[in-house]
Amino acid sequence: MSRRLAALIGSPVAHSLSPVIHQAAFDAAGVDWSYVAFDVAEGQAAAALDAMRVLGIAGLSVTMPHKREIADAVDRLEPAARALQSVNTVSWDGDDLVGSSTDGAGFVASLAEVGIDVADARVAVIGAGGAARSVVDALGRAGSTDITVLNRTREHAELAATLAAAASVGITSDIGRADIVVNATSIGMGGDTSEGAMPCDPSMLHAEQIVVDLVYHPIRTAWLDAADAIGARTVDGLGMLIHQAALQQERWIGVRPDTVVMRAAAEAALADR
Ligand code: NAP
Repeated sequence: MSRRLAALIGSPVAHSLSPVIHQAAFDAAGVDWSYVAFDVAEGQAAAALDAMRVLGIAGLSVTMPHKREIADAVDRLEPAARALQSVNTVSWDGDDLVGSSTDGAGFVASLAEVGIDVADARVAVIGAGGAARSVVDALGRAGSTDITVLNRTREHAELAATLAAAASVGITSDIGRADIVVNATSIGMGGDTSEGAMPCDPSMLHAEQIVVDLVYHPIRTAWLDAADAIGARTVDGLGMLIHQAALQQERWIGVRPDTVVMRAAAEAALADR
């Protein structure tokens, strides 16, 4: 079989880790696939999907600002993508293009990989943007019994909380009573350590909790370090990034890629930045 192509569409894409992560896994699996990134201007996502059909591109990753437009343009949506009206993965099923959203399942898988089961857990999600919405939806599907959403803009929290029956808008004290606390805001991204650059005051956390930061650049945020100092178990955001990509590849090539290889490739790329 001739070489097959998978691609990322988004804007900007220059600093995306996806090409590095996916190519490392393709190479490790010994499959004849290449992965490239296309900077596609806003409003051109449907045209990019037509290009996928015409050029026979075998798999597509989708990032901002195209996740919503692609959800409208594919032939069919998997359940999480339908609930979120957001697609980060396009794969073929016969002649149909199927849209999926693997972020939330990637989050759950990244915790399962380190022995953390979200079923029956009380989870506080700080943030209500695209990442938080994926996480709330996936937590609901995975059986979390108590999901609270805390966010700067209350209306966004209210919308995110509609994604799971067990979810509601939280108050600050919900952070202390949660088993798992997740930062799904962009606070801490790029190593911002300025005053207020933490999703919550670390004194709200305690040693019996699992504290997860979805920010992965830097891999260790100041908030994670503070949670670690309190004695909490901490999980960085690179795991979710790797596992959402692994779930994409599984849809494209039919086998689960090597996530250890993917993580090593991502860590090496981040160390260069
Ligand atoms: P988004 O849709 O833009 O949402 C941003 C969220 O952060 C919103 O809830 C926003 O609150 C909140 N926020 C931003 N600045 C804030 C501030 N100064 N104070 C309080 N709240 C603030 O972004 P996203 O796509 O959800 O991404 C969020 C983070 O998750 C980013 O760091 C991204 O890199 C990371 N992420 C990681 C993965 C992974 O695989 N690990 C995947 C996706 C995203 P408002 O609603 O009030 O604006």
